[in-house]
Amino acid sequence: MAPRILILGAPGAGKGTQSANIADHFALDHITTGDALRANKDMDISELDTEYDTPREYMDQGELVPDVVVNAIVDEALTQAEGFVLDGYPRNLEQAEELEGMTELDVVLSLAVSEEELINRLTGRRMDPETGDIYHVEYNPPEDDDVAERLVQREDDTEETVTERLRVYRENTKPVLEYYAEQGVLTEIDGEQAPDAVWDDVMALIESAS
Ligand code: AMP
Repeated sequence: MAPRILILGAPGAGKGTQSANIADHFALDHITTGDALRANKDMDISELDTEYDTPREYMDQGELVPDVVVNAIVDEALTQAEGFVLDGYPRNLEQAEELEGMTELDVVLSLAVSEEELINRLTGRRMDPETGDIYHVEYNPPEDDDVAERLVQREDDTEETVTERLRVYRENTKPVLEYYAEQGVLTEIDGEQAPDAVWDDVMALIESAS
């Protein structure tokens, strides 16, 4: 059976890169709440009685979008998936409990990266708006000058919002790691290694679990 994989880690830990690798290599659905929300930033959620009327306000400030919105996105995606890699969810204990009612998991892994390194990675991250490719001003600048000129920064990768996203991570999402660790199902992978070395560890873990 196709594996059901959960990948956890702070913003900037490399979840996006590694979960894209996993989805590709093991032919799984890639369910990512961050991308789903970015594609629907201006959706009207006012009838859900939330503080703001669209996801945008929460995201641009680095806050979590209300559970009721995110749970529905994940529930819908999971009913259509057999094997999957889930990335960006759960971000708090309430979401972790909700997920338990939606599916079982075969692999739960987290990418461990120090806070200093996370800040460097996020504030230096840039995207090519034409291809969606991700670069870093210092670690991975584009070779092509035309690409370099058109790079943009994600609206929530500014220093102020990054600080807030990491605070939200410490307060809300760290307990989710402890929740899975207490159940004895969490495997931590060193996310500070080069991306290829992280990928080797991720692949070995998934292969040993299936
Ligand atoms: P990401 O791309 O995963 O860093 O997500 C970007 C932003 O989307 C986050 O800072 C949150 O505002 C929102 N978001 C993504 N996933 C969730 C989630 N599971 N719960 C609440 N908000 C989320």
